[in-house]
Amino acid sequence: MASDRRIDMPSGDATIVGLIGYPVAHSLSPVMHNSAFRALDMDWLYAPFPVADESLSRAVEGVRALGMRGANVTIPHKEAVIPLLDECTDAARAAGAVNTIVHERGRLIGDNTDGIGFVRSLQVEAGFDPEGARVVLFGAGGAAKAIAVALAHAGAEHIAIVNRTVARAETLAADVARQGTVAAAAFGFDEASVQNVVGDAHLLVQTTPAGMAGGGPHFEGMLPAPLQPDWLHEELVVADIVYTPLETPLVKAGVARGCTIVPGWGMLLHQGAGSFVRWTGRSAPVDVMREALLRSLDVRTAHDVDGD
Ligand code: NAP
Repeated sequence: MASDRRIDMPSGDATIVGLIGYPVAHSLSPVMHNSAFRALDMDWLYAPFPVADESLSRAVEGVRALGMRGANVTIPHKEAVIPLLDECTDAARAAGAVNTIVHERGRLIGDNTDGIGFVRSLQVEAGFDPEGARVVLFGAGGAAKAIAVALAHAGAEHIAIVNRTVARAETLAADVARQGTVAAAAFGFDEASVQNVVGDAHLLVQTTPAGMAGGGPHFEGMLPAPLQPDWLHEELVVADIVYTPLETPLVKAGVARGCTIVPGWGMLLHQGAGSFVRWTGRSAPVDVMREALLRSLDVRTAHDVDGD
């Protein structure tokens, strides 16, 4: 059985990874990764680092100077960190964002496990393979871009992007269409057109803050505009990347309409598993990480605390 020794008392030789973002106090990544290190009895530690904009370059240099193995990067630094790194992987370049830094003998490499983590969540948590799928994607921000690119690489046939700001949906559709054989189209909030693409889709992905607890009156209790619950159909797989509350309004509507559900924590879990593999070169103990994540989310929901 794994002991708590390494986490309670990392040795002087411990390998350090961490999270660079602002704020980071709400993050569930430390509990997920430290549970994984403990389960595998690894002398590693994952620490959260709140880093304001003006300190980002010094914090990134710190990863190198302190001999850290790497770091996750989160809001608001995922794009700003790119010019501070020595190189980026194809996944990071295609997403235009970095969520994982790997430190290789003095060189800092930027990677992105968000998109592939989302695709893994479809496969592992719902048994859904996006190859050949018609997708409707609500939102065109940073998370939507990583997801759309990864879905294109996973063989999705068509991605319809629905966004309040149509120009942003158009830009993302053009970016996605450059990723290979996928076709992409942009939509605003025209109800008839959106109802049509939802009716025709195999997979619906929701990446706006709609439904987020503590997100304010625009979001709390809401479906992503202009979606109506009765547009959802039984053949649809519904993935909501919001995970506070655990049962978002979209998840509830999807369950009521007989859809297959992919919960929002799935992306968080599998992007974390991807980072773990990049840093350690070992398989991630996904079951341990899932249990730690869900335990923390349950506690958080019980205390009605918002998180992201
Ligand atoms: P972002 O880049 O700021 O994009 C936000 C998106 O939401 C944009 O498409 C924006 O539309 C739309 N939006 C914002 N306010 C809106 C409103 N009042 N009405 C309609 N649409 C609105 O944010 P992000 O980084 O992509 O994150 C989006 C959400 O995903 C957040 O809730 C975040 O917590 C969640 N997330 C979850 C995970 C996970 O692991 N599960 C990972 C990353 C993010 P416009 O273009 O019109 O502004």
